[in-house]
Amino acid sequence: MPLTILLHGARGRMGQAVTAAAADLGLRIGAAVDAGDDPAADLAGCDVIVDFSAPTATAGLLQLAVAQRKPVVIGTTGHPPAEKKRLLALAARVPCVWASNFSIGVNLLFYLTRKAARILDEGYDAEVVEMHHRFKKDAPSGTAARLLEIILQERQLTAKALRHGREGITGGRSPQEVGIHSLRGGDVVGDHTVLFAALGERLELTHKASDRAIFARGALRAAQWVATRPPGVYDMQDVLGLKD
Ligand code: NAD
Repeated sequence: MPLTILLHGARGRMGQAVTAAAADLGLRIGAAVDAGDDPAADLAGCDVIVDFSAPTATAGLLQLAVAQRKPVVIGTTGHPPAEKKRLLALAARVPCVWASNFSIGVNLLFYLTRKAARILDEGYDAEVVEMHHRFKKDAPSGTAARLLEIILQERQLTAKALRHGREGITGGRSPQEVGIHSLRGGDVVGDHTVLFAALGERLELTHKASDRAIFARGALRAAQWVATRPPGVYDMQDVLGLKD
């Protein structure tokens, strides 16, 4: 029996990409749900939820997943940090893969960023630059937020170290700050660069997504993986075996 998916946010850009990828992978979209639809009745006949909708919809969707004990894949980004903490606690009551980016290349970028931040000390200034299409509603991107989280963890810094763009007489750069810059324009699917710049050399790790299909295929791979897991929150590093 093919895995049957309830797709939440089905009419959006990612919803359409997941629908196309599901057909290619032989998975069934049992219910295509968007704003204004009630997913409760349809969920009973589905094995797993895949969500690419809006941050305001996540709490209700997770409550439904918990009530019906259904595994869930959350791809939606842009949750305020305090709310995300509450949502993760709710998500942990079912098997849940929550990932800001489902591409294999980006998950390797997370891994390499952690390695680089471990090896390169504060003599290497860390900055993250991201670019997305003009329609994107949140900034910085969820992927950039994850890259920043990795750098902050490795350097034992808090979110106070983040500099969201710079303007005016900012003074020299402190080694403890981590810059983040969000560019928006055109139809860019998603570019992310992590820079480590020292006196005399610079390392740049860059990933460029050119097709949403990579996120859709990754999310469906996560759906297949999570369908047989015990309750808990997992990420794409778990799905891909990139944890060390
Ligand atoms: P989009 O605006 O094209 O589509 C969102 C869809 O969700 C729309 O059809 C909208 O009507 C629907 N929606 C809004 N509120 C809803 C609700 N309450 N219930 C059900 N559906 C609702 O956006 P998109 O480009 O498809 O992106 C969707 C989300 O996925 C964003 O948060 C984006 O940042 C994120 N995203 C994540 C990844 C990843 O790999 N994790 C990749 C791309 C996009």
